[in-house]
Amino acid sequence: MSQKTEKLTKRRAASVPQGPFNVTPLFAARAEGSVITDVDGREFIDFAGGIGVINTGHRHPKVVAAIKDQAERYIHTCFHVVMYEPYLELAERLCSLTPGNFSKMTLFANSGAEAVENAVKAARYHTRRPAVIALEHAFHGRTLLGMSLTGKVMPYKSGFGPFAPEIYRMPAPYCYRCSFGLEYPSCGLACAEHLHELFRTHVAAESTAALIAEPILGEGGFITPPPEYFPALARICKENGIVLIADEVQSGMGRTGTMFATQHWGVEPDLITSAKSLAAGMPLSAVIGRQEILNAAHVGGLGGTYGGNPICLRAALAVLDVFEEENLLDRARSLGRTLRARLDSMAERRSLVGEVRGLGPMLALELVRDKKTKEPAAEETKELIRYAYQNGLVILSCGGYGNVIRLLMPLNIAEEQLNRGLEILDKGLGQVGK
Ligand code: PLP
Repeated sequence: MSQKTEKLTKRRAASVPQGPFNVTPLFAARAEGSVITDVDGREFIDFAGGIGVINTGHRHPKVVAAIKDQAERYIHTCFHVVMYEPYLELAERLCSLTPGNFSKMTLFANSGAEAVENAVKAARYHTRRPAVIALEHAFHGRTLLGMSLTGKVMPYKSGFGPFAPEIYRMPAPYCYRCSFGLEYPSCGLACAEHLHELFRTHVAAESTAALIAEPILGEGGFITPPPEYFPALARICKENGIVLIADEVQSGMGRTGTMFATQHWGVEPDLITSAKSLAAGMPLSAVIGRQEILNAAHVGGLGGTYGGNPICLRAALAVLDVFEEENLLDRARSLGRTLRARLDSMAERRSLVGEVRGLGPMLALELVRDKKTKEPAAEETKELIRYAYQNGLVILSCGGYGNVIRLLMPLNIAEEQLNRGLEILDKGLGQVGK
């Protein structure tokens, strides 16, 4: 560790709580495209994107120009006090980009957790029902409701109770480790059909306001459901007047090769939450969905001082322009094909890789000590992350057992950086745990 980094590390330990975790010991000086340069001038290929926030790359020139231009005009008036057009323009564009040919509206907030909070508030108000159903392995944020909806105890819930009431849990569509000990497709989608059991044993359907689910469970380990799973959830929700909230905070904004992951399965969620790559690193989140749900709450019932900050909105509008002008969804799909082939090859050659899963370029490797017993290789995963940054690559883990490596690089990553990063990952898989 250089003197500079060592000094910063000491200051961090002295003045910032340990609660906010750090994946690497690095301090950033600059970032451009898919590369982060640290304070010692070392370059790192970024396969983490600040946890899925940098789909358009670091400091895309169009995003930077929009931020600068807006800062020259006005930074904050508060939408509740003096309104501004970028709020309307982004709302309109998101309404037309999200699946579903029905009247929609969009509400802006600052973080993924806040989007989740608002989606649940809107669903409860609209249905006048209290209960919310969430999945095991889910992650919906760190606010009281967000962590209550989250299905992972350490580190998100342990010691932070009591939790918000009226939350009911069902198993995730985790085929690699099926809660029912079944196999797809002979399972008959037991995990989706389990909703009926939940209605019998835990909460009445007519007391349930919403079911919230991530199309691909991000923090939970990039758990990817079979294609019929979300359509089945949508059908059961519809039959019972339950609002389906697709939490697309991590899976949205092109991450899976479509703008929103639910589009892969022809599902039209009642509400969609978006954040992360929505504004390329500026804090912005959105709830987009059915007009009758989002417009139900009375005036003053929703909102916040900073929600829909003009600079963040302009950054998000620039992100949407980049998607259109640079065919980013096509690039994402092509990246997905390349990545899948490379990861599949690693899985064949490396004993540590138990499964490759995901959709498009939203892919992950679940690491196991033994491909038969599937014993989670959590220590080896930590070692791999360390090996990666020591060799110039930033990667992230996830998963209920801390043994999944997820890839969240910019969708427009240059081929050379992609190859270099994948080589480091591949070599690391061959070296750790030995
Ligand atoms: N929902 C999902 C699916 C997420 O992945 C995250 C963050 O990782 C959140 C909600 C919370 O977002 P934030 O950290 O911006 O509050």
